Amino acid sequence: MSTIDWNWIQSKPYQLFIDGIFRAGPEGGLFDIINPATNRTIATACDGTRADIDLAVAAARDAFDNGPWPRLTGKERGRYLGRVAALLDAQREKFAFLEAVDVGKTVARTLDYALPQAIDGFEYYAAKARNLGGEIRPAPEGRFFNYRVWEPMGVVGEILPWNGPLMMACHKVAAILAAGNTVIIKPSEHGSLSNLELAKLFAEADFPPGVVNVVAGQNRELGARLVEHPEVDMVSLTGGTETGKKVLRQAANTVKKVALELGGKNPNIIFADADIDEAVQWAIYGAFADQGQICVSGSRLLLHESIYEQFLESLIDKVSRLKIGDTMDDTTDIGPVITRAHEKKILDYIALGRQEGARIVLGGHKVLDPPLDQGNYIEPTIFIEATPAMGIAQDEIFGPVVTVLRFKTDEEAIQIANDVSYGLAAGIWTRDIDRALRTAGHMRAGQIYLNSYFSPAMLDSPTEGHKHSGIGGTGIHKYMQEKSVFVRLG
Ligand code: NAD
Repeated sequence: MSTIDWNWIQSKPYQLFIDGIFRAGPEGGLFDIINPATNRTIATACDGTRADIDLAVAAARDAFDNGPWPRLTGKERGRYLGRVAALLDAQREKFAFLEAVDVGKTVARTLDYALPQAIDGFEYYAAKARNLGGEIRPAPEGRFFNYRVWEPMGVVGEILPWNGPLMMACHKVAAILAAGNTVIIKPSEHGSLSNLELAKLFAEADFPPGVVNVVAGQNRELGARLVEHPEVDMVSLTGGTETGKKVLRQAANTVKKVALELGGKNPNIIFADADIDEAVQWAIYGAFADQGQICVSGSRLLLHESIYEQFLESLIDKVSRLKIGDTMDDTTDIGPVITRAHEKKILDYIALGRQEGARIVLGGHKVLDPPLDQGNYIEPTIFIEATPAMGIAQDEIFGPVVTVLRFKTDEEAIQIANDVSYGLAAGIWTRDIDRALRTAGHMRAGQIYLNSYFSPAMLDSPTEGHKHSGIGGTGIHKYMQEKSVFVRLG
């Protein structure tokens, strides 16, 4: 990877993609795209404004109301999506590089996970477009029947976070398009690069103008404008819970359909009868993959008291051997966190944990060895002697920090696991199938992993966050409206 000349990304600013045309914003401003491993500018992009959002919405509106896209058959739409999958497949290395220099993911992990998942998103929804489902019900007296169909929402604003920009954009946009909608993608101000590059694939795949638009920019007002815009039928946000609350308020005036996929503070429960070696490996992956910057990260580790010491010893030993470093190096485990500001937030939480009386048994510092000191690198950090009420056990830190809690009984584990405002995911480790299913049943969370942590993104089995982790459904039907038709038979 390092032998390839990647200077092309600096050669000219990335442009907005509106109505099928790559263009600069009317005011011509640029913003810097910064590599979190060095805090140096690696590319520039046109800095979108509210006026650009308005242009993109007008284009998407026209494409939906008057263009061919929603009127194509599912099979025809699927062909377009298939072309994007093939184009992406041919450029895996380029996209893995972009995710590394833009958001600090390791190239190896992106090639191994996010890219195959991203390609699969287009392939899956290409097939799904042909079979969007429906339902027929006979009425009680037999003189009526009723059918239920799913139709596109219309113009969808898709607001994305920085922590998985490529995979998330691909999964969501493929579903939006398969359903027959048109879309304005609003990437995160800290993770635009792969989304801007993706726009080129939609152009190359010859999508009708206005079907896909990408408006990046550093101003968080861009997202707010999409939510408030009267011509946008639906807004889907993946982001933090506080942003989600704002979006709900902003959407009120237009009674807009809203779907929110928000934060998490997910428990990973290890019962006494678990396979400890396996559980330790997966707990490390769950807590520290992508520097803990994953919504479903297992950032709270609940250990049964009888295996507590054994588990902890193995955990510390293995985490201490994780390699922190260059995201281009295949042997790196831990890359940088996204920005200096986010690094500070994580370090503030580490300081808070100390003040609250928890004890750090590993890590706890910014990495100060050159050249990593130039980037936003934080040591993988393990807190013990924490209590469930502490800030480090309640708040989403979204960094390489795991808080270990101890429990005595199954009931106590369930109580601690559910005692946060979030409800996104949970891991459960036990060899007892009754205990596994009983505990899964008690979890107030949308995604449960039994004897694993994480699963391949199952597009067939999407999940909605519970409590403050989300609302509004998942999968393709999230982007569709139901209609029920009652037919009187002659
Ligand atoms: P964020 O909430 O700061 O930003 C998300 C997006 O919202 C960005 O594009 C931002 O510009 C935009 N935005 C900000 N203010 C807005 C407003 N008032 N109106 C409309 N849009 C606005 O989140 P982030 O820091 O980019 O991402 C990390 C968060 O995302 C974490 O909390 C993580 O758990 C969550 N996340 C959730 C899931 C999930 O599936 N549940 C997946 C990935 C990330």
